[in-house]
This record gives sequence, structure tokens and C-alpha cells, in this order.
Amino acid sequence: MKKQIKDFDLKGKKVIIRCDFNVPMEDGKITDNTRIKSSLKTIRYAVNHGGKVILLSHLGRIKEDKDKEKYSLKLVSDELSKLLKKKVKFINKTKGKEVENAVKQMKEKEIILLENTRFEDLDGKKESKNDKELGKYWANLGDIFINDAFGTIHRNHASNVGIASNLPSGLGMLVNKEIKVLNKLLKNPKKPYVIVLGGAKVSDKLDLIKNLVKKADYILIGGGMAFTFLKAAGFSIGSSLLEKDKLSECQKLLDEYPEKIILPIDIITSDKISNDAKTHLRFINEIEEDEMGLDIGVGTIKVFKQYLEDSKTIFWNGPMGCFEYKPFEEGTKSLCEIIANTDAYKVIGGGDTISAVTKFGFEDKMDHLSTGGGASLTYLEGKKLEALDIIDEKE
Ligand code: ADP
Ligand code: MG
Repeated sequence: MKKQIKDFDLKGKKVIIRCDFNVPMEDGKITDNTRIKSSLKTIRYAVNHGGKVILLSHLGRIKEDKDKEKYSLKLVSDELSKLLKKKVKFINKTKGKEVENAVKQMKEKEIILLENTRFEDLDGKKESKNDKELGKYWANLGDIFINDAFGTIHRNHASNVGIASNLPSGLGMLVNKEIKVLNKLLKNPKKPYVIVLGGAKVSDKLDLIKNLVKKADYILIGGGMAFTFLKAAGFSIGSSLLEKDKLSECQKLLDEYPEKIILPIDIITSDKISNDAKTHLRFINEIEEDEMGLDIGVGTIKVFKQYLEDSKTIFWNGPMGCFEYKPFEEGTKSLCEIIANTDAYKVIGGGDTISAVTKFGFEDKMDHLSTGGGASLTYLEGKKLEALDIIDEKE
């Protein structure tokens, strides 16, 4: 078992917490603060136990100097402060004298947030390539390292693996909970166990299907990824999303698990993705050449409902259609409702899927929303999580 924040005496200690504040932003505003909210428990715990709390996080990708303005953590610091009802001191640097002085002057229960760790990527990708010196530098700012950034736990970065290699380390409450939930899905899930997959890219989900298909009773497939499967099954898919190089893998899965993999029987199509798009309901053998499939149809929703109704465990990742647009939201919205109304243990994974569940108002009906898209998928694919492996084991 990995050490947790609760296994440390934090009083008077400088506690570095790696958070996941990688929130979506638009026009200088945070559009979804779920990730900030999920970090509060661990931060509060560290503060209440007398820690001097130093927060680190990445935000977006930093490729050139002008990305810095868009991806500063300043807004996150304001939002965090508001949610915590407590001052969060923001230092707009990732290292240097200003950072070191601020840390030196800290008193118990104070919180500082440093600037976006990926600002260090401008200098030879030091953060993302886990530059040894950078990890050591950040580690030297603190006494204890807590990793609570589930979204990057599958990555080998300076701000997670790098720091953990140089300090006593443990897991924050969010990461600990996430791992517990995912272990439930991987080891002895209550049956029937139904997995719902959607989203744009089938290539993102094939390894997941391969690892979970043996554990699950059914895998229901919607969204853009369904079309490579439908094409592999012999249907014409018009100009819907297709990953040609994945056709044979999809074909093989369909051959091997014909009773487990359930595909749509009807589709909402259109010639454009917009709020004023004209739509058609088509059976999957009726899709026309110039049409794109952009949502699942009513028949599919009914079929999926039958599988979901009696299930005892549900894992859902990937919207059923382009739910961001009104004409293509019905499939995703209906699935939210159907899943919410089952008495199964319900886990939702993936940034866009969580946005959808939240948008349609069903977030409180689910048992767990897993904040780390790629991280949860990597774990569910049966692969190791680098920044989890490096954390100290309980003695
Ligand atoms: P998550 O972030 O939950 O893991 P993904 O990133 O895999 O989900 O997929 C989300 C995206 O998939 C959404 O932006 C949605 O618009 C898109 N999508 C869903 N269905 C389709 C479709 N039929 N064609 C094109 N894009 C789709
Ligand atoms: Mg996504």
C-alpha cells in the first residue's frame, strides 16, 4: 500500500502538493472548476494539520512564449482562494529568489501557489521530460511531497516523479480515492458489469477495450468511435469519423466478442456540426454518402437502456454524440438519465463526459466522477502509472 497524506505529521512542515488545476478556460474565464473543487479536501487537510502548503500544477501546454499569458495559474489562484475562503498567495514564477523567499517566510497554515510548472517546458521541456535538476530544485523547497494530481499520474514529469524521487512522499486524498474506485472496476466488479464508450477517437479506446472486455459483460459503443466499428461490420458510414488504420483491430474484436460488443442500430446524421444543423434519423444501413453520424438514435438509446437497467456496475467514458450542439445532445443526455436511474455503482471518466454529465445536471446522481481522463484510461488499460509507482510504500 502506498503512503497517504494521513500517514505524515505535517505540523510546521513545508508540504508540497502537486495538484491538477488543468481546468478548461475560455475568454479569460474558467469554464469548469471541477478539478479545483476536487483538490480542496487534501489542501484543507494539510492546512488544518499545520502544514505550510506549497501548491504546484500544470495548465495547458506551453510551446512558445505567448502561451504563458493564456495559461497562467493566476485565475486558478483566485478561484481556489474563493472556494477555500482563505488567502492563496500566488507567485508568478516557477523558481528563483522570489519563490525561495516566499517559501522561507511561510507560516503554518499558509498557502502559496507557484506559476504553471509547464512554463519550464520552454527551456528544453524540463518539466515534461523530468529534468533531474528541476525535480531536485522543487523538492528542495519542501519537506514532504504529496501527489494529488491524478490527471498526470501516468506521466513521468519533474513536478511528480522528479520531486517524489527526492522527498518522502505520499498520495493525496483525491488520488487515493481515484485508485480505489478504479481498482473496484478492475478487480471483482459487481455483475452485470456494463461499460459505455464513446467520444471521438477509437484509437484512444482500443487498449481499454482489450483489457476490460474480459472483465465486463457488455461494452456499449456510441460516439464518433462507433463508426470505425460500424464500417468494420460492413456498413456504409458516409463521411462520419473513420480511423482506417484501426479497421482490422475493430473487426477482430467484433469477431472475438460478438455478444459483448454492442453497436448502435440507428444514428442522427447531418451535413454539418452546428446548432442550426438539419438532422435525420437513419438506421445504420441507411446512412448517405454526404452525411456524418453525430449522435446515436432513439432505437439505440432503447437498446442501451435494456443493457444498463439491470447492471450492478457501470463505467462510462466518452459522449454518445457531439453533445456540445443542441441537435446532437439527445443520446448523451438520455444516457445520463438512464445511468443515473439505475442502482448500479456508477463511475464516469473523461473530461468531456464529465462536462456532459454536469451540463445536463446529473453529477450528483453518479457514484464517482473520475477527473483524470488519460490517467484513468491508462490504469484501466492495465498499464503502470509512473508517478504512482514512485510514491513511498507504507512500512
Ligand atoms: P472524454 O474527454 O470524456 O474522454 P473524448 O475526448 O474521447 O471524451 O470525446 C469527446 C468528444 O467526442 C466530444 O467533443 C464530442 O463532440 C466528440 N464526439 C462524440 N460523438 C462524435 C461523433 N459522432 N462525431 C464526431 N465527434 C464526436
Ligand atoms: Mg476529451
